[in-house]
Amino acid sequence: MFRIAAASHCRLALLAVLVAAPAFSQTAAPASAPAATHPLRVFDPSLVDTSVDPCQNFYRFSCNGWFKRNPLPPDQAEYGRFTELYELNRLHLRQILEQAAVPSPTRTPNEQKIGDEYASCMNTADIDQKKLAPIQPELERIAALKSNQDLPALLAHLHAIGVNAFFDLGSNQDFADSNSMISFYSAGGLGLPERDYYTRTDAKSVEQRRQYVDHVHNIFMLAGEPEAQARKDAGTVLAIETELAKASLTITELRDPKNLDHPTNLAAFSKVLTHFSLPEYVAAAHAPASGKMNDTEPKFFAAFNALVADTPLDQIKTYLRWHLLHAYAGTSMPQSFDHETWHFYAHILNGTEKEQDRWKRCTSRVDHEMGEALGQVYVARYFPPEEKQQALAMTLSIEQAMDKDLDSLDWMSAETKVKAKEKLHAVMNKIGYPDKWRDYSRLTIVRGDALGNQERVREFDFARDLAKIGKPVDRGEWFMSPPTVNAYYDPQMNNVNFPAGYFQPPFFSDKEDDAANYGDMGSTIGHELTHGFDDEGRQYDKDGNLKDWWTREDEQKFNDRANCMVKQYDAIEAVPGVHLNGRLTLGENLADLGGLWLAWLAWQDKAEAAHLDMTAKTDGYTPDQRFWIAYAQQWCTQTRPEQLRTQAQTDPHAPDEYRTNTVLTDLPEFARSFSCKKPAPMVAPQPCRIW
Ligand SMILES: [Zn+2]
Repeated sequence: MFRIAAASHCRLALLAVLVAAPAFSQTAAPASAPAATHPLRVFDPSLVDTSVDPCQNFYRFSCNGWFKRNPLPPDQAEYGRFTELYELNRLHLRQILEQAAVPSPTRTPNEQKIGDEYASCMNTADIDQKKLAPIQPELERIAALKSNQDLPALLAHLHAIGVNAFFDLGSNQDFADSNSMISFYSAGGLGLPERDYYTRTDAKSVEQRRQYVDHVHNIFMLAGEPEAQARKDAGTVLAIETELAKASLTITELRDPKNLDHPTNLAAFSKVLTHFSLPEYVAAAHAPASGKMNDTEPKFFAAFNALVADTPLDQIKTYLRWHLLHAYAGTSMPQSFDHETWHFYAHILNGTEKEQDRWKRCTSRVDHEMGEALGQVYVARYFPPEEKQQALAMTLSIEQAMDKDLDSLDWMSAETKVKAKEKLHAVMNKIGYPDKWRDYSRLTIVRGDALGNQERVREFDFARDLAKIGKPVDRGEWFMSPPTVNAYYDPQMNNVNFPAGYFQPPFFSDKEDDAANYGDMGSTIGHELTHGFDDEGRQYDKDGNLKDWWTREDEQKFNDRANCMVKQYDAIEAVPGVHLNGRLTLGENLADLGGLWLAWLAWQDKAEAAHLDMTAKTDGYTPDQRFWIAYAQQWCTQTRPEQLRTQAQTDPHAPDEYRTNTVLTDLPEFARSFSCKKPAPMVAPQPCRIW
């Protein structure tokens, strides 16, 4: 993920999030649509299509009614239950922002910032009228580069303002010592979604590269270059990025933290970077020069060093100019830039037919930039304390289920079980929002300066991130804003994080019963918890250190079971000619299966304790059946073929149809609830199972 989004940093790559984050938040922000006219429910019998046999295709059985009611809106690459709720939350955020945008002496400092930033973003007349003037000083800074010797200082500045050129610097917990924050140097510098876009040779990929060059060319033209020059410069950008891509790890390799753990320090790292003065870069970035560093991708940095030596200065300037324009071509620059960027990233790569309304994008922008200033108001209005308590109780019950499940595993030794339980008991549960809100007092937001604001926000984030190095780790920090409809597990923190925005219908409701809530939100809680024990998460100990705690035999048994799932997902052809990548999606698939299983166990315990009549039907379904339908209905999603292709090639999550059906085929408990008999598409001939 960190190599995709321009302004993100290394830590996010290590987080296991529930649903795919949009690849390009500037343009392809989470989808939008008119607010739902139908009330959102966790278990909704009106969505079920009884003409479909649940043993044939449970996803269609559970979701067809939703598909009929929700045609894919033209400004969406995909539209599902997550977007449905995201849109509702975005409407609420819009109301907060529109109120905060009214100038008034009674506004709090945070209200001034979020309100004025929203107003600046909405003022397209002002942004268009200024043309390139706000970005001009930065363009001139690049043009003034006299030699490769001056590159370190320039690059440090560009990194500080969020330009994803060449590589990325950020802070992160040391893999070997999770109590220590150190510098992480990561591969970066690509404009296409990930490295394989530069190397694949199939016709579609070749065509996409040609379209990418057209896009870079168009951006250079908009910035005032003559046609021929822009064409030549676009070719230069592709050539440099291809060199970087070839030296970068694949997205599958990036999932294994051992591939990213290469401790070094300034003196040793400087010996690798013979053509790029790391001390000068570090000084200009105001990053610590002493202490441990991590050269996460040695092969990449060796290639970067060679590239700096071998590339003519003019070509380096061209490359930097592209990444500067690319980093700001969203809502801060004239609409011609904005539209061109949308056209390539959202239309060509993801199939969207229409740009999102400005207010939606400006709302998402403020949420992205000052999520805890906006989120503080959001939480006060929309997340009552009782809900936090309910969410916590549910989380604890899923953790208890995992404890019991570990006891019952026949393949894991007593020795490894003890360690697994230690890790489980050490998981920290974070629900809703931070205990301590982020302090934005050092950030200046000026009404009417959209681009300057964005620059200052990025500088603020960069400095805040680097300031963590050498300080105690803040385990209470959040990496998602409170209104976010998503969740994540952080392996180095060993914590699960469920933002407030998620605890609402259609995922959770205190008006619905346990069958529905456990099938839906319960499975998500189980999913995040299972990430601590997936192929990636299991490599970390209870304190978040990358330290092996498995016996060799147990590790082998785990890998054998995991390989069953690799094969299962490798066999799925998501779009003609493109199969899912069983290795890339393994962690998420393990979390889906394990999470649903844990939710099922917790729900069975709940039902038993309540002496529930398991044969009594509500809306035509038994409690168990409603559990499975609620699980499936959270994944009802319409997706464009272009988006599905991009997703299959880049996303560690399987598409939602398989997150439903493939997972369920592995659970005989599901088959029993619907009396599905082998052979049937919803019953795997040889189910995979770990937990
Ligand atoms: Zn996940």
